[in-house]
Amino acid sequence: MPCVVQKYGGSSVSDLDKIRQVALRIARTREEKGVGVVAVVSAMGHTTQQLISLAEEVAVQPDRRELDMLISVGERITMALLAMALGELGVPARSLTGSQSGIITDENHAAARVVAVRPDRIQRHLDAGEVVIVAGFQGVSREREITTLGRGGSDTTAVVLAAALGARWCEICSDVDGVWSADPRVVPEARRIDEMGLDEALALARGGAKVLFEDAVRYARDEDVQILASSTFGPGAGTRLVPARPSSARPVGVTSDDQLRAVRGPSVQVVEAMTAAGARLRRRRDDLWLWDTRNAHGRWVLPDGVVDEGTAAVVTVVGSGVGEQPSLLVGAEDILQRAGIDVRAWWASGDAVSAWIGEERVAEAVALLHRGLVPAEGEAATR
Ligand code: ASP
Ligand code: MG
Repeated sequence: MPCVVQKYGGSSVSDLDKIRQVALRIARTREEKGVGVVAVVSAMGHTTQQLISLAEEVAVQPDRRELDMLISVGERITMALLAMALGELGVPARSLTGSQSGIITDENHAAARVVAVRPDRIQRHLDAGEVVIVAGFQGVSREREITTLGRGGSDTTAVVLAAALGARWCEICSDVDGVWSADPRVVPEARRIDEMGLDEALALARGGAKVLFEDAVRYARDEDVQILASSTFGPGAGTRLVPARPSSARPVGVTSDDQLRAVRGPSVQVVEAMTAAGARLRRRRDDLWLWDTRNAHGRWVLPDGVVDEGTAAVVTVVGSGVGEQPSLLVGAEDILQRAGIDVRAWWASGDAVSAWIGEERVAEAVALLHRGLVPAEGEAATR
């Protein structure tokens, strides 16, 4: 029997009532579509953040192995409760941890990458007619240590399993209906995108959009996984992610990241210290490096000669081929200049054009760039 993978994010399973509704949604998919279902779950609500806070309270720099032992628990709570809720509906279900699901990762605790997937156990339960619930965001290293995949990593679990199982599609369900052209809380005229290229989705994720996790999108692109980003409880049509869209050089969205860390120093020392802390390089200008430190927990110690320059904010315009469109660069520059927003550095390549600006002007810059560069609904339709 063909199968699908559905991933339910933290806000979709934040209480028992929602877990029951998710169980119903899974049962419905199974009946209406005649498919086996593998459901990947996140931790309930803000559980992961709460567990990290506990670790940071008890240790200045929590040991990353122990941190993974702790934060991998959140998803396990959800998986067991959801399996029980399905049982109450008379649907046979079995929960499995990442390691039981055959998700093998490297040793990089708290920010591990998937290196192999052996889903034979999942397949056996599917063949027996059971719904399989998998704890997202975690795996096991070759040394049999429990690892986690970085914040947002349940998306990765879903995509790697969809690829390994040859699933018909992979549905990423959350409290937002698909991918939007900007955060609607910041830009009221932002709208849902019907169809988006995986390269564009990757540029959005790297630019700081939280809707889909970077590693998951990259994996989907490399392994040809069909992704649908949809709303768990809402009626919306969601966003279909397609392998590639013809390069129209039209911006599809604007995003931002105001949590980057600027670090200055000699290349080798900077890279060694920051990657050891679990940070990811985002941008570089001369000897200044901007890092995503979301998975570098606790207080981090930098070696002599490496200087922490504080937080940095980058706004990014995304669209297939926008980085190679000179008129677009001029347009973006003009918009920020007219608003008196100083730019410390510009980057343009492939599907992204980014500007490093002051944190206090990020929301305004996103709104202005969206208004000036992202075609309105009518224009988009005549593409
Ligand atoms: N629970 C983890 C987090 O909050 C993983 C996920 O939800 O994707 O980041
Ligand atoms: Mg997420």
